[in-house]
Amino acid sequence: MKSETTIRQFVVGHIQTNCYALISAGECLVVDPGASGALIAQHLADVRVTQVVATHRHHDHVGGVAALLRSVEPRPSFAIGRADADGAQRALELSSHVFDVSDGSLENAPRADRLLHEGDVVQVGEERFVVLETPGHTEGGIVLLGDGIAFVGDTLFAGSCGRTDLVGGDPLVMMQTLERLKTAIPPETMLLCGHGEATTMEHELATNPWL
Ligand SMILES: [Zn+2]
Repeated sequence: MKSETTIRQFVVGHIQTNCYALISAGECLVVDPGASGALIAQHLADVRVTQVVATHRHHDHVGGVAALLRSVEPRPSFAIGRADADGAQRALELSSHVFDVSDGSLENAPRADRLLHEGDVVQVGEERFVVLETPGHTEGGIVLLGDGIAFVGDTLFAGSCGRTDLVGGDPLVMMQTLERLKTAIPPETMLLCGHGEATTMEHELATNPWL
């Protein structure tokens, strides 16, 4: 990561989702605006939000996308993993059997402007992220792997990994994804997780029982 690059973190919604804003050369990528999209936009009024990416389709990661896109002019583009795009547009219905999503503040994701595939590049100012498809928590979950930093969504947490008992989850596929990430993510990489504390790959390789 370049020394001028900055990251702002917002903890949003009823499951305390980490929403991140990465700012490079005045350009801003927002990852996982799970709620409070208009408020996030207010906090980013001093930068140019050009892209919004959701790491996966769950309501607590996409619930604020629509409001954020409405609140920024010109409208940023919205991208999500190809296999999660349809589900993101039904995120509230798909979660309603487990979570109370009825308070009216959350919205389904809009149609994606870009479907992300393995190996795609998300460029933000001078920062470059490569898309890794990481199914297991959902079918279409992704990790954005940059230079020394990765947005890992709910695939990997400090000391744990994402649950696989929700619709679209698959424990065997998750094990394959985690096995792959052991070598795909360099050890010095800082991991920005969908919930909870940030960590590093090196620390997780040494301590995380799921790896
Ligand atoms: Zn999730």
